[in-house]
Amino acid sequence: MRFIHESMPVRVVFGAGSSTHLANEVARLGLQRVLALSTPRKHSLAERVVEALGDRAAGVYAHAVMHVPVASAEAACAEAARLECDGYVAIGGGSTIGLAKAMALASGLPIIAIPTTYSGSEMTSIWGLTADGEKRTGRDERVRPKVVIYDPELTLSLPPAVAGPSGINALAHCVEALYAADASPITKLMAEEGVRALSRSLPVVVREPENLEERTLALYGAWLAGAALGAATPGLHHKLCHMLGGSFNLPHAEVHTIILPHVAAYNAPAAPDALARVAQAMGVADAPAALFDLAVRLGAPTALRDIGMRSENLDHAADLALRSSYPNPAPLTRDGIRQLLDDAYHGRRPKGISV
Ligand code: NAD
Repeated sequence: MRFIHESMPVRVVFGAGSSTHLANEVARLGLQRVLALSTPRKHSLAERVVEALGDRAAGVYAHAVMHVPVASAEAACAEAARLECDGYVAIGGGSTIGLAKAMALASGLPIIAIPTTYSGSEMTSIWGLTADGEKRTGRDERVRPKVVIYDPELTLSLPPAVAGPSGINALAHCVEALYAADASPITKLMAEEGVRALSRSLPVVVREPENLEERTLALYGAWLAGAALGAATPGLHHKLCHMLGGSFNLPHAEVHTIILPHVAAYNAPAAPDALARVAQAMGVADAPAALFDLAVRLGAPTALRDIGMRSENLDHAADLALRSSYPNPAPLTRDGIRQLLDDAYHGRRPKGISV
């Protein structure tokens, strides 16, 4: 056994009601004037959360949008500079945390993240910025939040239609971490535990949105998933989803939900141990089919054609997927990717690949 493991210097405060720790965490970092960030929809939540900060809160900037357009990041940076802020508090999902990351990339100021979805972005050093319809991403330690406060009570309002795909977005981080060549045994343990927590909690979360215990388990799984993604290099799944979302303007978490069973099936012959760990954590024999069935149980989409993809774009998508090189357990072939996209387009259940 040989590995390199680097512990990420992120302080995690976890548990129901823990957003009330924000003032302590701001003081601990020595911050005097933080700017709270949210989407327009989460404006009042952000105001409530930062209320306890008193003078240490410079205000709430509630203009975060999906995929972080460069212009929106520049406008937010200008507002932060005008208010003479020395840090950001991102309250929301991957879009809000993404805005904070773009601002930190430009300014070097610290982020405290309070995630309200299961995207896992809060644990990674991955940033993304969109300009002229193209999303650039990169890794930079400056954008990794210094503190993450996970408060499951803030996720109680997450509607089933958002919670299901968002949870599978997190599951996808775990699956790809389990076969990533650079994932250490510790990272894989976190990923496997993440699969267990998410696959058990998500069906209850969409059935009983008010169930705080299962919301807590789902958020715990999302933390593990984000930590696993933050410590391993993702493969075909994340590349495909990124390309499909960026080039064909498809919704992020839904694309993850549709693609994951097909990439799992594609990689299963080349990564039998990883897929066996996914299956074991889910309590099933066939991981790719179980991932598909989970999406069905969650009422989430299972076909690209149902979320706006057009069949005449599948060839172009297959070409785009092969344009850059990236690590993946199974070799990437044009025919293989084209078939995968066809299966995902039609929403076919992966056929009994038992590992
Ligand atoms: P999102 O942040 O866009 O949120 C989706 C919607 O849900 C928004 O309208 C938001 O206001 C609402 N919402 C959020 N929390 C809520 C709550 N608790 N109750 C009710 N409504 C709530 O979606 P997302 O899936 O969290 O994030 C997607 C973005 O994150 C994409 O741009 C993706 O690229 C990025 N992402 C980045 C990483 C990374 O490591 N950099 C990882 C995963 C996702």
